Amino acid sequence: MKYHINEFFYSLQGEGYNTGKDFLFLRFSGCNLSCYFCDTEHERIKYTMTIQEVYQELKKINNSCQNLLITGGEPFTQNIFPLIIFFKDKGWYIAVESNGSLDIGDKIKYIDHLTISPKGKTRQKECHELRLINDNLSYKKAIEIKELISAKHHFISPMEKDGTFNYLESLTLLGQLNKRDKEHWYLSLQMHKLANIE
Ligand code: SF4
Repeated sequence: MKYHINEFFYSLQGEGYNTGKDFLFLRFSGCNLSCYFCDTEHERIKYTMTIQEVYQELKKINNSCQNLLITGGEPFTQNIFPLIIFFKDKGWYIAVESNGSLDIGDKIKYIDHLTISPKGKTRQKECHELRLINDNLSYKKAIEIKELISAKHHFISPMEKDGTFNYLESLTLLGQLNKRDKEHWYLSLQMHKLANIE
């Protein structure tokens, strides 16, 4: 089996629950959605690689890191579970970021940390981290989404438009959520952009 890969690199996670944790990032090519605000150049297939080739290339970048962050595009458009199981068998920590539009059923058991940042219709109903991008999000809409997807950790991520983030609207929304909802909601900033790293 060969995978369509856009890029891979070593860096620090800049967002959400794992902020600051070092990872080998593996970005799969392609997505089943086309959001107007997408800022990821995921379409280009730079590499077509087997699991062994992915492993060898990641080891060349960093031989000691055993944290793999799989992202896209939408990584579940490709059958990534053989690759996840391969790395799990070697003792790696596996995090995946998804738009939640594809149902992976009980295969979530192979993933240490699944983040869903919902766009479009949500089919995956369980994750570890729900991260909502504040695209004119209301309190009511945030609660509606939260009730559709079970998660341990809840984040609001400010949205960038024309180089400006809606920080004030996001803080206001966080205040409303933390006043009225039983879950505690946290702010997720794109720290990698603020720190000027990849
Ligand atoms: S789901 Fe994510 S990667 Fe896919 S188009 Fe939307 S923002 Fe881009």
